[in-house]
Amino acid sequence: MQKKCWTLPDYHLHTWRCGHAAGKMAEYVEAARAAGISEIGFADHVPMYWLPAEKRNPTLAMKEEDLPVYVAEVEKLRKENPDLVIRLGIEADYIPGGEEVLARLLSTYPFDYVLGSIHYIDGWEFDHPAEVEGYSHRDIDDVYDRYFALLQEAARSGLFDIMAHPDLVKKFGYRSRANPAPWYEQTARVLAGCGVCVEVNTAGLRAPAGEIYPAVDFLKACRKHGVPATAGSDAHSPAQVGYAREEARKLLLAAGYREAAIFQGRRLSLVPLF
Ligand code: ZN
Ligand code: FE
Ligand code: FE
Ligand code: ZN
Repeated sequence: MQKKCWTLPDYHLHTWRCGHAAGKMAEYVEAARAAGISEIGFADHVPMYWLPAEKRNPTLAMKEEDLPVYVAEVEKLRKENPDLVIRLGIEADYIPGGEEVLARLLSTYPFDYVLGSIHYIDGWEFDHPAEVEGYSHRDIDDVYDRYFALLQEAARSGLFDIMAHPDLVKKFGYRSRANPAPWYEQTARVLAGCGVCVEVNTAGLRAPAGEIYPAVDFLKACRKHGVPATAGSDAHSPAQVGYAREEARKLLLAAGYREAAIFQGRRLSLVPLF
């Protein structure tokens, strides 16, 4: 029997180096092969470049000295597994004011793509379980407004190829009072204008939000404006590789996508989605 060919990549795999993911990198590759996923990419958390070395939290991101070792290990796995496509990615936080430092860091390594993430709103790490309390003393519509403004600013920075988990602000189930449609519409327009992709990230299904990032209406707005889309599981263990990929594919189809974006050397190409 022919194995099902899976064109949708999984471009969001973490590694133990970030201090909060488990398993060996080779086990992630093995899990992808077992699931019939032919194209994967590691995208571990970038070193916390916006903080001095002594203030960086080793349970949030890899150390700066680990970055070249991470790159070398992806390249080694690529050589050892010629039957799979293994991309070198990175998940990089967008921190206003840190653009130059990040640009320098990113230009040092031959990344295939850079995922851009908003994990902080003005210093508040709004997606960390230990900081959930922060939602209780803020106006939720202000939080959403600030989140989408940062996302748009990140896209405009030119540092990123793909915006990761694009409505992460819903992670803990705090929903805006306001209709989010204008945020979706405006953000999709900005992504299209900057030539930045959107990531369909299934980790939202594992969070209190209980739905994929982004919401279907946000993805539809992206589709309408011609924003290419890619996908990732945000796996923090080998068992999560390809997590809920059928749901991701269905969401893309429901939003009108018929192609998925893949990257090599930070150049995009499209593959049919079926
Ligand atoms: Zn992580
Ligand atoms: Fe993230
Ligand atoms: Fe991630
Ligand atoms: Zn992420």
